[in-house]
Amino acid sequence: MDDNTSEDLPPHSRLSAGCTLCYEGAKLVLFLTGLCHRDCWYCPLSQERKNRDVIYANEHLISSPGEMIQVAKRMSALGTGITGGEPFYFPERLIEYAGALKKEFGPEHHIHLYTGMAPDEGMIRSIAGLIDEIRFHPPAELWLNLKETPFHDSIKYAKMAGLDVGIEVPSLPNIDDLTGYLENIDFLNINELEWGDFNADEMRSRGYLLRGDVSNAVLGGFESARKISSLPKVHWCSSDFKDRVQLRMRLRRIAANTAREFDEITEDGTIIYGVWECDGMKEALPEGLDANLFERFDDRIETGWWILEEISGRIKGTAYYIERYPDDGIIIEVTPV
Ligand code: SF4
Repeated sequence: MDDNTSEDLPPHSRLSAGCTLCYEGAKLVLFLTGLCHRDCWYCPLSQERKNRDVIYANEHLISSPGEMIQVAKRMSALGTGITGGEPFYFPERLIEYAGALKKEFGPEHHIHLYTGMAPDEGMIRSIAGLIDEIRFHPPAELWLNLKETPFHDSIKYAKMAGLDVGIEVPSLPNIDDLTGYLENIDFLNINELEWGDFNADEMRSRGYLLRGDVSNAVLGGFESARKISSLPKVHWCSSDFKDRVQLRMRLRRIAANTAREFDEITEDGTIIYGVWECDGMKEALPEGLDANLFERFDDRIETGWWILEEISGRIKGTAYYIERYPDDGIIIEVTPV
C-alpha cells in the first residue's frame, strides 16, 4: 500500500487565517468539552475525551481560564482553535474562555471555532467579537441540500456578524455533494478520515481499511476528496500533514519556550534528558559537573542525557533516558542507560 498518496494534493490550497497559524504551530488547541449532541459514527475522539466533560489546553487537563492562559503563554500562542465535543454545549463556558484569551492577548489573538450545531442568531451574536472564524460541521446526509437546512441560516448569521465562515468535514464518499454550496462560504476544509480506538468497530463494519502501517488515515478518503479538493476554496488536510507538519511545528515552539538547559530538543520537537533515581534532595553530585545542568526532585535527579551517559559508571541507582513531548507532555520512550 502506498502511504504517501494523500499528500499528492497541495496540502494548503486555500488556507483560512486559522489554518495559517495552525500550519506554523502557533495555535493553542482548546478542547472545551467532550460532550456533544451528535453521535457521528466516524467521531475521532479518544476514550479519555469522548462523552466526558473535560477541558484540555493542548495536552494539559485544565479547569480554569487562568490555567489555559498559562499553557498559551508557554507556547507563545498567536491564536487558538476551540474544539470538542461540542463547544456550544456550554455557551457560557465558551464565552468565558474565548473572552479570557482576547482580554489577555488582545483582539489580534485569532480564535477559530468548530461546531457540529447550527446555532441560532442569538448564539452567533453572543460570540461576535470573540470568535474570528467559525467552521460548521453539518451531517453528511445534509450536504447535498444544505441551503434548505438550519446550517444555511447559521452561516448567514455568522457572515452578518463579520466572521470568516467555513465548513470543515471528514472525507466521506459523498464529499462532492458540497460542491454546489461553495459559493456560500469562505472556505471548505476536508479532513482525511482517520481511524481511532473509538470508531474502529464502525470503520470495520463499513469495510474501511487503514491506508498504511504507520498512519491512521483510512484507505479511500483521499480518493473521495480528489475532485473537489482541486477547487479554489478547498483545503485538503491530510492525516500525514497534521502529524508531520502541524504537530511537529507546535511541539518545536513549545520546546523552544520551555526546555531546560540540559533538555535536548529533537527535530520532531520532543525533548530528551537523563534520569537518575536516587534521593534527589540529598545525593551528592559527581565531582566537576556543572550544577546548572541538573534538576533535583525527591526521588530522582534529572540531567542531560550525555551527562548521564558520562557518569553512569560512577553512580548507584537506576538510570535511563526519557523522550517526551515538551512542557511535561506525554512520554514517548524510556531507554535504560
Ligand atoms: S460532532 Fe464532532 S465531536 Fe460530536 S460526535 Fe460528531 S465528530 Fe464527534
